[in-house]
Amino acid sequence: MLGQALLVASRRPGLRKVVVGTPVTRRVVDRFVAGETLPDALAAVDALRRDGIAVTLDHLGEDITSRAEAVASRDAYLALLDGLAPLQLGRAAEVSVKLSAFGQALPGGHDLALELVRPVAEAATAVGTTVTLDMEDHRTVDSTLAVLAELRRDHPGTGAVLQAALHRSEADARDLAVAGSRVRLVKGAYAEPRTVAHTEKAEVDAAYRRCLEILFTGDGYPMAGTHDPAMIALALELVGRTGRSADSYEFQLLYGIRTGEQQRLAADGHTVRAYVPYGADWYGYFMRRLAERPANVQFFLRSLVTK
Ligand code: FAD
Repeated sequence: MLGQALLVASRRPGLRKVVVGTPVTRRVVDRFVAGETLPDALAAVDALRRDGIAVTLDHLGEDITSRAEAVASRDAYLALLDGLAPLQLGRAAEVSVKLSAFGQALPGGHDLALELVRPVAEAATAVGTTVTLDMEDHRTVDSTLAVLAELRRDHPGTGAVLQAALHRSEADARDLAVAGSRVRLVKGAYAEPRTVAHTEKAEVDAAYRRCLEILFTGDGYPMAGTHDPAMIALALELVGRTGRSADSYEFQLLYGIRTGEQQRLAADGHTVRAYVPYGADWYGYFMRRLAERPANVQFFLRSLVTK
């Protein structure tokens, strides 16, 4: 219930003003967001690399309302890739983009998002890395998968995200479990109607297991995007069962969440990638993290009273 309310709140501009304007919010946000600037993000990358953890960087921004903002998102990613170039991290530092930040929801938005994300994919290829297209609410899935198919023609390493919660994702997983295809499987962070998605946790978990099995027994490069110990255990079991080599799959976890587990998996020889968000527009991302876990809300509320 609380989670659903927070997901609805994550799309309310009025509430955004209240939450963002509260100075103490910052301390809680810092737990999940690497900072507001590119140097902040690069400092977080450096710290994670010292623990042998790869990264995917997300310049925060979504649901933009003008072409100028979409162009600004593209430019922020080009600056990010410029900043990564001298570090020569190759695929150890990739980037994740939300097409809504590239104008996907504007009129003519599918073409605009493709036009603006293409140079980002080109810049990523030039520094030896890749782009992953985050998945947003279910109305965007067809457009995002079509952009993926376009980008993969010239940049075959471009990654996709599938949300186990959506009924369609098992079929999408089958389509995408092919050689060279990089797919991050997540449970899904958006409030979706019953008509298109599983809404009970047990159903979502069962769907995640089915999709994970499809991806790990397929020919692609699966990326298990989860903090759930049961799903991580299943991925490890599938690695054992399929005899996958350590360079043919990875675990992905969010910055600041289960960091001990991130370090443990990396120390055990698995590729672990932390999803590192940075930037000033952290509201939507932050609210989804609160929605996932009631304890995060308690932590947030406590910080409001213990200035
Ligand atoms: P859950 O069952 O939600 O959680 C399992 C355990 O993980 C919890 O008991 C808790 O210990 C820990 N945990 C989970 N969430 C939190 C949290 N917020 N704070 C603290 N502890 C927590 N969703 C999308 O819809 N589109 C995307 O593109 C997308 N990209 C993602 C990329 C990565 C790398 C990851 C890890 C997640 C991404 N998500 C995305 C979010 C995802 O859909 C889930 O909402 C989120 O990962 C929580 O699900 P879970 O698998 O961790 O399992």
